[in-house]
Amino acid sequence: MTQIKKLIAGNWKMNGSLQANAALLQGLRGGLGQPACNVAVAVPAPYLAQVQALVAGSSIALAAQDVSQHESGAYTGETSAAMLRDFGARYVLVGHSERRQYHGETDAVVAAKAQRALAAGITPIVCVGETLEQREAGQTEAVVKRQLAAVIQANGHCISEIVVAYEPVWAIGTGRTATPEQAQAVHAVLRAQLAAATEQAARIPLLYGGSMNAANAAQLLAQPDIDGGLVGGASLKAEDFLQTIAAA
Ligand code: PGA
Repeated sequence: MTQIKKLIAGNWKMNGSLQANAALLQGLRGGLGQPACNVAVAVPAPYLAQVQALVAGSSIALAAQDVSQHESGAYTGETSAAMLRDFGARYVLVGHSERRQYHGETDAVVAAKAQRALAAGITPIVCVGETLEQREAGQTEAVVKRQLAAVIQANGHCISEIVVAYEPVWAIGTGRTATPEQAQAVHAVLRAQLAAATEQAARIPLLYGGSMNAANAAQLLAQPDIDGGLVGGASLKAEDFLQTIAAA
């Protein structure tokens, strides 16, 4: 069992509005007290400033959902790591399967994004995970190792500063969660891969994501290599997210 303070990060995806965000964060702040784990919310870029103000002085950290692989310049529509830092982002998701799938992000692009985040002092939450087809073809281990290897290769010197999120694509938004044993098996593979790259592997948080909620979080988080969760749907209502946090 690793000695890592658990991290529960909500991923709002493309949801929210000024009004809804204010209500959600008011509910979270009201119910959170002193959580036993670290808590973050990954918000759409236009709301970074709003949420930065709303979480100020609380134990909720601000996260972004994506970052440019480029430093600055002629990249219309992109958001740089320095811009995220300007708004107090502590974390940024990189390589979420929805980015890989709908925006063609390759392992190399994801690795470059992690590098930009680290250089700006922002912790990248590197998402890896296999599709159902890949799982059924027995490729799960090869896929996640390939995805993580690119990030390790590009960021070897500071790899202990990352967070990894294992999110089986077939479990995202489907209500179909990996069993604690399935998730642990992959987390153990990732931990071993990190251990080959750094002596600090035991302190790199490995999150599970994919239909995590209050009902299944405790069992998942009881696994020796599951150090937290990346929570989509169940992070959009204060009560659901608070209950998931309480399970950690
Ligand atoms: P979900 O999303 O909890 O709604 O499955 C998780 C994620 O995609 O990060």
